[in-house]
Amino acid sequence: RAKDEGRNNIKLFTPAMNAKVMRRMELEANLRKALEREEFEVFYQPKVELRSDKVVGVEALVRWRRPDSVVVSPDEFIPICEETGLILPLGKWVLEQACSRAKYWHDMGFDGLNVSVNLSPRQFQDNHLVDHVGEILAQTGLAPHCLELEITEGVVMHSVDEAIETMNRLSSMGVRLSLDDFGRGYSSLYYLKRFPMSSLKIDRSFVADIATDPDDASIVNTIISMSRSLNLQVVAEGVETKEQLDFLRSKRCDQMQGYYFSRPLPARELTELLEGLRPAV
Ligand code: C2E
Ligand code: MG
Ligand code: MG
Ligand code: MG
Repeated sequence: RAKDEGRNNIKLFTPAMNAKVMRRMELEANLRKALEREEFEVFYQPKVELRSDKVVGVEALVRWRRPDSVVVSPDEFIPICEETGLILPLGKWVLEQACSRAKYWHDMGFDGLNVSVNLSPRQFQDNHLVDHVGEILAQTGLAPHCLELEITEGVVMHSVDEAIETMNRLSSMGVRLSLDDFGRGYSSLYYLKRFPMSSLKIDRSFVADIATDPDDASIVNTIISMSRSLNLQVVAEGVETKEQLDFLRSKRCDQMQGYYFSRPLPARELTELLEGLRPAV
């Protein structure tokens, strides 16, 4: 038996595995360097209020612009940053960027604009989070109610009570909280009842087929009415077509976000987009 296990262990260490481990270590090292060299960049995707057709906010979405100018998507590096702990300095940097950019847009006259920043579970469990948020708001001069933090159910993996305590501290500072990717997890309704949220984002996997699949249409419809009765703003993510938008409008969804209106853009392009929407005086 011991012999068998020994043999199995040896089998695990194949050249292919070795190469995979090496690639992974190299990626980790490169991500660390990327932070020092400021190769990360925050993109912003507009959120549109359906009642007024106005851009009322933007979501900050981080990208890694590698030295070879390839732009790497967060799905490829956030999980690694989460595992290695690099998410803490990276997340703080994103928060600083997003808050100072939002303040800049306010100073340009887009003063109602909200900025949303995603927080991963590890960031949310960090004891320094609330202090960091307070410091960044003070340093940038951004009004707390213009900052929204997007979290997922994953933040409670460690302890529900601690997570709720953190949420309460943030909301008592005036910062808003949003439950991201709603519907993708398991215990959504339970958390919805206990979390001090001001908005909820319908996962884009439900939005994708609302115009063609009656089941998805009725799920989304139900989430919208439920949000309304719980006094939560409801945001549909991943809106790509006019048909999806028409459906959401007819159900009186509050806000939408998606390629149909705009992809996430570099800060300068988002500024141009806002300028273009500014009513002429
Ligand atoms: P998320 O927070 O759910 O962000 C929405 C994702 O949907 C973004 O992907 C956005 O680009 C994409 N999206 C928006 N509209 C559409 C659409 O119409 N169609 C499709 N197919 N996709 C659309 P992105 O930027 O690749 O980010 C992926 C995830 O990475 C985010 O999901 C978020 O969980 C995470 N992430 C991004 N930036 C940060 C960050 O600064 N910190 C942390 N902790 N996580 C981040
Ligand atoms: Mg999000
Ligand atoms: Mg989402
Ligand atoms: Mg997500």
